[in-house]
Amino acid sequence: MFQFNMKPLHQDSDHGLRGCFYADDMQHRTRHRAATLESDLTLDVAIIGAGFAGLSTAAGLLARGCGELAVFEAGEVGAGASGRNGGFIMGGYSLSPQALIRQLGEAAAERLYQLTVTAQQSIKSRIRSQAMDCDLVDQGIVLADRFDRTADLQALQQTMNHQLGADWQCLTPAQLREWVRCDHYHAGLYEPQGAHFQPLAYAHALAAQVTAGGAQVYAHARCEQVQRKAGRWSLQMYSNGVSHRVNCRHLVVCCGGYIKGLNLPQAKGTLPIATFMVATEPLGDELEQILPADAAVYDNRFAFDYYRKSRDRRLLWGGRISTRQRSRAWISARLHADMVRLYPQLRKVRIEHAWGGLMAYTRNSMPEIRQHGDKHWSATGFGGHGVATTALAGELLAAAVCGEHADYRQFARYRADPVYGVAGMAAAQGFYWWQQLRDRLRLL
Ligand SMILES: Cc1cc2nc3c(=O)[nH]c(=O)nc-3n(C[C@H](O)[C@H](O)[C@H](O)COP(=O)(O)OP(=O)(O)OC[C@H]3O[C@@H](n4cnc5c(N)ncnc54)[C@H](O)[C@@H]3O)c2cc1C
Repeated sequence: MFQFNMKPLHQDSDHGLRGCFYADDMQHRTRHRAATLESDLTLDVAIIGAGFAGLSTAAGLLARGCGELAVFEAGEVGAGASGRNGGFIMGGYSLSPQALIRQLGEAAAERLYQLTVTAQQSIKSRIRSQAMDCDLVDQGIVLADRFDRTADLQALQQTMNHQLGADWQCLTPAQLREWVRCDHYHAGLYEPQGAHFQPLAYAHALAAQVTAGGAQVYAHARCEQVQRKAGRWSLQMYSNGVSHRVNCRHLVVCCGGYIKGLNLPQAKGTLPIATFMVATEPLGDELEQILPADAAVYDNRFAFDYYRKSRDRRLLWGGRISTRQRSRAWISARLHADMVRLYPQLRKVRIEHAWGGLMAYTRNSMPEIRQHGDKHWSATGFGGHGVATTALAGELLAAAVCGEHADYRQFARYRADPVYGVAGMAAAQGFYWWQQLRDRLRLL
């Protein structure tokens, strides 16, 4: 019988990580102790949001010797999408490679794609050089074909390798089985630069690096309002029910899909889209029957399954997208059913954790990395490809804030245009249903 260990319902709105496997896993690791905001502050740079985007920007600024800066987080460090994601360190953007080339032309698209490959490398180098305890598994990522359309797969490989400068490898069905043993897959592609890690542990390690570099990371410090006064930014912050003022020269907004309610243009241009994950009980040798190697795996449907092994030999399984948050019981039942559809032998496996998180999407499925106005910077809209792209955004914004270079302008075309609230969410949900229906018909 399918079983689920019930724990209290996880509410995303509280910026908490209850139900999330990674939060329980942190009990065995060193957690970074974030600071508490207890007074007014005057800073050079204030960064809102301690997800990967905010923390990477802070690390980039510190590496450049930027003056006084701090990161302010409404919940705990990594409590947004960054600390709850699949942990896939993958190249590219949520926008498809074909669309990227169509929109920018081959040369510019290749440049933007290669920035994400550099970001993959820089995350891995940072983890190794700082000896970060976050289970980096540098064994690539496999894209498995659900549709038995070899020509489509080969066309994608050609696009990636010949137009974007990647080196993805085609896997025959027999080769694919060396990575993943599933009767519903046909052939596959292998991204050798891909890797995976424990994302919450990485967020904590990054926060520790930022703090060691001389900046503060404040947890439970919510920015409620932003004002421009006499050429400076004035932020109204709430921490433990007490209001404080933070004045700064530069404001960097990295609030992802959790930005709701902030009086900034980024809030109007963000579609918060939910996706979900579960963790099984530890599986022992059974796991090798599914994943004989250590690569992470996803498939080529619109709302794909994504999964990998944890250090303690659980199957960490993600999937589905929705404009609605779901209860942990819903997530657990649906994702377990998805898992069993592919791997019937997992029917009796216990699901021990179930959680969801919000990704930030823009209307164009590309991140917004830009300057909004005078000393007002934005890094948002990373969608489901946020691990590597947030590292890249952090570097670009840090260089821009320090006046080093303005390479962020390569993203000038991509803005978080208004998404029109409920109407935008309804349109997005309609689009998802349509894509999912198309995938189901293609599978018949
Ligand atoms: C379940 C799931 C699986 C995913 N899997 C993958 C994957 O495998 N690979 C991949 O590349 N991407 C994945 N993604 C996407 C990726 O996690 C995100 O794109 C990325 O983490 C976004 O980082 P961020 O820093 O922009 O946002 P977040 O990590 O969401 O951080 C934003 C932070 O801002 C804080 N905040 C918001 N408003 C305020 C305020 N007013 N004051 C103070 N703080 C505030 C929030 O609390 C939050 O911590 C996944 C996402 C989810 C939800």
